[in-house]
Amino acid sequence: LDSGEELRADAVIFGIGVRPNTELAQKAGLKIGEKRGIWVDRYMRTSDENVFAVGDCAEKTDFFTGQPSALRLASIATAEARIAGANLFKLKRANKGVIGVFATKVGDLVVGMAGMREKTAREAGFDVVVGTMETVDKHPGSMPGATPLKVKLVFHKDSGKLLGGQACGGVTVGELVNVIAALIQSGMTADEIATFQMGTHPALTASPIAYPLVNAAEIALKQM
Ligand SMILES: Cc1cc2nc3c(=O)[nH]c(=O)nc-3n(C[C@H](O)[C@H](O)[C@H](O)COP(=O)(O)OP(=O)(O)OC[C@H]3O[C@@H](n4cnc5c(N)ncnc54)[C@H](O)[C@@H]3O)c2cc1C
Repeated sequence: LDSGEELRADAVIFGIGVRPNTELAQKAGLKIGEKRGIWVDRYMRTSDENVFAVGDCAEKTDFFTGQPSALRLASIATAEARIAGANLFKLKRANKGVIGVFATKVGDLVVGMAGMREKTAREAGFDVVVGTMETVDKHPGSMPGATPLKVKLVFHKDSGKLLGGQACGGVTVGELVNVIAALIQSGMTADEIATFQMGTHPALTASPIAYPLVNAAEIALKQM
């Protein structure tokens, strides 16, 4: 440590964030955004409309608030590249902003999230309702390899729209949070999610009567 104190540890995990390298863009006279990325419009054009920027070096806008965002992910970079590529000759695709979809695995436990947490949604000024569902990722729960699965969905109370979701459980969580992201991006409400048609299979998914997204939405609806 700066103080000279030494700490013994089995592992050290750095959580130091990233800073865009905008040196080249600055030399070219391009505008830099509030979060230090190269400023871009929703078509991924920089302040010189003949120059596009995507990925970690480009400024991001939050999907929910429209405010500058510090999120930087490979999945965001590739979506931005598909938008920029489509717009090179005429404007075809617009960027809706970053939702933020993450998952990670520690031992056998997988945790993931998409969009806003309850706390960040409240801090951003949204009145929210929450639905939480605990189930297993196969059915019945006595199936070999069945793993407990917990899902929490956060809805905007006024519009009913999904703002975010978190999940923890087994390996199904990685794709489950991607489904949550798709529900958010398409603006689905708790009512629509409660009646959405999913496919289930005993060896592959939760039971249709205890399907986590649907049941969490039903639980949230009761509070709206
Ligand atoms: C430890 C770690 C884990 C991560 N895990 C995930 C994950 O699980 N999922 C996820 O979605 N994202 C993850 N990310 C984030 C992801 O890696 C980045 O968002 C992604 O790589 C950004 O892609 P990019 O092409 O914009 O930038 P980069 O991958 O940084 O590529 C930029 C390239 O440009 C080159 N370059 C820079 N300046 C110049 C120059 N002047 N001339 C020529 N070349 C230049 C660099 O050398 C580099 O090769 C992780 C990042 C880290 C650090």
